[in-house]
Amino acid sequence: MASDLHIHTSFSDGKFLPEEIVEKSKQLGLKYIGITDHDTIDGIADLYDKGFYPATGINIIPGIEMSADSEKHEIHILGYNIDIFNEELRENLIEVSEARWTRFSEIIEKLNNEGYDITETEVLTLAGASRSISRSHVARVLVKKGIFKTVREAFNTLLERGKPCYVPHFRLSVKKIIELIHSAGGIVVLAHPKLIYDDDSVQELLDLGMDGIEAYYPEHNDIDTARYINYAKKRNLIISGGSDYHGIGARHNIELGEFELDDKFAKQIFEMKK
Ligand code: AMP
Ligand code: MN
Ligand code: MN
Ligand code: MN
Repeated sequence: MASDLHIHTSFSDGKFLPEEIVEKSKQLGLKYIGITDHDTIDGIADLYDKGFYPATGINIIPGIEMSADSEKHEIHILGYNIDIFNEELRENLIEVSEARWTRFSEIIEKLNNEGYDITETEVLTLAGASRSISRSHVARVLVKKGIFKTVREAFNTLLERGKPCYVPHFRLSVKKIIELIHSAGGIVVLAHPKLIYDDDSVQELLDLGMDGIEAYYPEHNDIDTARYINYAKKRNLIISGGSDYHGIGARHNIELGEFELDDKFAKQIFEMKK
């Protein structure tokens, strides 16, 4: 049996509804899954409301992936076992997702100014139930309209940091995110450290009070993983891992079930309370 602790749903920028993710994961025989939407826990709340969480036949870890404020790096932080009813967390997430809407309008304006034919309505139609509008929704529309071949190409040309239509959005500080996740009873894990592209910063981030590191990730090779496990051992941190599945063309096109995290890591997180 295998597990996957980094999965997106249509409540952020994934393709499938949370209940579809649960069903697919069960069929694939995954034992533990972490639902980790960007800046929202509404997907888990939706599962709960519909009676799919807690589930039988699979262990669902209620999670989140939050983007942290940083001038230089793209820092993402995962929270696991969070109390989805925690008021302070909810209030802060509302502030972050509202800022994403303003920023989304600015992205469309920049694209129009650069001569790209795209409207807010087209993106909102594609984004559907999303509570957390993101650059990847915009990129998907650009691909759908035949302007770019892949989501990745749209990012590389226009949407990435430093590119003509990049707009940052309001993000909480690393310290605030750690504090919020902890106060909601959660475990804090540094996401995909390789995508920070600076191991000194990775180690400094871990020392700010993280509980763990996502050592297993599709874009990490064995040497990367071993290095991150070593960072964890030195600090007595837990080890996590996940596919970052979106169900659509994203950074990488991995299918659910292709990436396998050893259950022992997932079990440890599932049973851990702060
Ligand atoms: P945002 O949260 O709006 O800044 O958008 C970031 C999202 O876009 C990430 O969660 C990824 O799903 C996706 N993404 C980021 N960088 C890339 C890239 N280079 N290629 C494809 N997708 C990307
Ligand atoms: Mn994403
Ligand atoms: Mn991420
Ligand atoms: Mn992710």
